[in-house]
Amino acid sequence: MAISKLKSSTQTLQKSNVTAAPRRRKTLSRSAYSKEEREEIFRRFSIQRPEPKGELEHVNPFTLVVAVALSAQATDAGVNKATRELFKIADTPEKMLALGEDGVIAHIKTIGLFRNKAKNVIALCRMLIDQFGSEVPKTREELILLPGVGRKTANVVMSMAFGVPTMAVDTHVFRIANRIKLAPGNTPDDVEDNLMRVIPEQYLYHAHHWLILHGRYTCKARKAECERCVIADICKYPAKSNDIPAPLVELPPQIIGATAE
Ligand code: SF4
Repeated sequence: MAISKLKSSTQTLQKSNVTAAPRRRKTLSRSAYSKEEREEIFRRFSIQRPEPKGELEHVNPFTLVVAVALSAQATDAGVNKATRELFKIADTPEKMLALGEDGVIAHIKTIGLFRNKAKNVIALCRMLIDQFGSEVPKTREELILLPGVGRKTANVVMSMAFGVPTMAVDTHVFRIANRIKLAPGNTPDDVEDNLMRVIPEQYLYHAHHWLILHGRYTCKARKAECERCVIADICKYPAKSNDIPAPLVELPPQIIGATAE
């Protein structure tokens, strides 16, 4: 697939973007929360984490794309450990390409699926150079043409690199949306569509990070820590273990989402 992507001309790609992007069938479902409740949920998240940040380290849009692509089925901390040295020597598509697949592998071999990911990184660099003037494209339609870049990665890049409000649905976002019935959906695409509809517009830009960090540190997969939750009184998860909200204060840096060790 990557090879066929590389063979296409920019013109063909742009044209095919318009015609080939299939319209996703949306399964819209109702949020269990009223407009006022949703406003209150995100108001509280905004007080806890006024400036949430992604935990993947990067120095420019190119290294962000690479880091997000490497993070599939890996932890942000694991990716950061591998990319810290890699990005010091290869922060452009040209420098990364010069390293070659083996050079990339030497840096990322602690990350799962590293061989396939290294292959995609090199193909991605070639495509950026050949088709996009070595710049990371800004649209979702163009981003998902890049090898190793799917819709979720494209959404993260659009949001973090270009300030476009998007909803990248990872495992945490998917779980919370369904667990507390904020925006239930059978697939990540459904959840994305539903969240984009139900999240109050003024909170949309940061909502993706708030949900990820809430899922990572409080509403955890194995056991939700409801006693530490600031929306425990509003939450409609039938199995929640507490309904008294935790004190609404700004969180310290180690759990605000600005650091990943
Ligand atoms: S109350 Fe519990 S289940 Fe509900 S959002 Fe908070 S941590 Fe998650």
